[in-house]
Amino acid sequence: MQEITNGEAVRRVVGAARCRGERIGLIPTMGALHAGHLALVVAARAQCDLVVMSIFVNPTQFGPREDFARYPRDLDRDRHLAADAGVDILFVPTAETMYPDGPEGQVIWVEPGEMAAGLCGASRPGHFRGVATVVAKLINLVQPDRAYFGQKDAQQAAIVTRMAHDLAFPVEVVVVPTVRASDGLALSSRNVYLTRAQRQQSSALWHALREAQRLVAAGERGVPAIEQRLCEQIAREAPGACLDYVAVVDAETLQPIQGPLERPALAALAVYFGTTRLIDNLLLQVPEQGTESDANHHT
Ligand code: AMP
Repeated sequence: MQEITNGEAVRRVVGAARCRGERIGLIPTMGALHAGHLALVVAARAQCDLVVMSIFVNPTQFGPREDFARYPRDLDRDRHLAADAGVDILFVPTAETMYPDGPEGQVIWVEPGEMAAGLCGASRPGHFRGVATVVAKLINLVQPDRAYFGQKDAQQAAIVTRMAHDLAFPVEVVVVPTVRASDGLALSSRNVYLTRAQRQQSSALWHALREAQRLVAAGERGVPAIEQRLCEQIAREAPGACLDYVAVVDAETLQPIQGPLERPALAALAVYFGTTRLIDNLLLQVPEQGTESDANHHT
């Protein structure tokens, strides 16, 4: 595995691979790697010839009172994990590579608009503008054929997918399923912040999402009823958690759903355990209603 820290070098090395006809995959991360990140490597490895992973803790996606300073960083460990997983190029850009004039000197930003207004965007103003902008820069620097993102960060994946579409980026955005611990908690670099008691309660997020899916499978189509069940389930199983939001939205646009559920929707939630904020989501499959009675009707 080769490690590169500046933009010119990554362009040169990746450009040479492209000239050889190789297919390039990019996996943007903030490091503190875990099995969730490594699942993106597995997906990229299966579809690409050259796998580039970036590690950059992007200051512009953290709010002033968020955990930028204490975000877990362990480049040595990340190097080993990335190499073992099959990453070819570890791109660890310097702050100057990503923000040549400093974050304050950045004039042009990618504005995700209404897709960033709700869900995590409501309590993290500016977060998705920082994410979209840094992802745009990474894609421009590396120029991959495919870029890999986790379903774990559903709003991020939807915004990046839409950015590539709306701004005609020549890249295919691939979204990889969420990797979970055995009790269902979605793996996250921030899970290390949890106390033992908080960690025990944190599987409530997954249990609530599965309960929402069960409710839909049983015929519930009312968004308020599903959201209420999510809230109740978390309150019951995780009394130590403080809800930030619970929402069932259109999976593609992330906008509120008017009327009953008719097509796959995204159930998404965020909770605080103390100062630690955890997010999770599940794509709710909506069985076609009436299929059974129609079938009966025809027999
Ligand atoms: P991060 O380092 O947290 O910015 O995450 C980098 C990428 O890994 C993002 O596309 C995340 O959505 C993805 N990711 C993080 N955790 C998981 C997980 N548990 N399962 C799948 N993908 C994940």
